[in-house]
Amino acid sequence: MSIEKALLTRSGSKCELCGATGSLGVYEVPPDSENDADKCVLICESCREQIEQPERVDANHWRCLNDSMWSQVPAVQVIAWRMLTRLSAEGWPQELLDMLYLDDEILTWAQAEGVGGDDSVRHLDSNGAVLEAGDTVTLIKDLNVKGANFTAKRGTAVRGISLVVDNPEHIEGRVEGQRIIILTKFVKKTG
Ligand SMILES: [Zn+2]
Repeated sequence: MSIEKALLTRSGSKCELCGATGSLGVYEVPPDSENDADKCVLICESCREQIEQPERVDANHWRCLNDSMWSQVPAVQVIAWRMLTRLSAEGWPQELLDMLYLDDEILTWAQAEGVGGDDSVRHLDSNGAVLEAGDTVTLIKDLNVKGANFTAKRGTAVRGISLVVDNPEHIEGRVEGQRIIILTKFVKKTG
């Protein structure tokens, strides 16, 4: 069975992200490009354009992920995670991301590729060290957390940070149970 046929069957001949039925095509989820339906999704032209050209993204289109992120298909979960991460500054995608639980293996896959389609963005800490998703950082000053009504104290360790892809000066991490955005200039990489 060809990949396209397998995907048409799996998806019920619909875009696996937004449910559209027109102009569907196979999309190989980077970085893998194996000849394997499990590594591909069937998506419509509109989804494909926005995945491949971040500057053309229409955030509202991606409200479809509200449903499709619950797909049992790992490749769909990966795309959902990447698009929600890319759009997290909108607010609602971050809320969905917080609910989206990926198995470790799938999360590693999701993080394997820069979600903005541009790997040249580097996140540097206050010493100029390159930060990567999953790193531990320490706050080098007290930070007032906007909207959360607490101060993240200097010296607080933030484990398992994630990088805000569109903004090299922002990372995200959990402090006192809350997921917050932190400026890279206020952290030091410790692990
Ligand atoms: Zn679509």
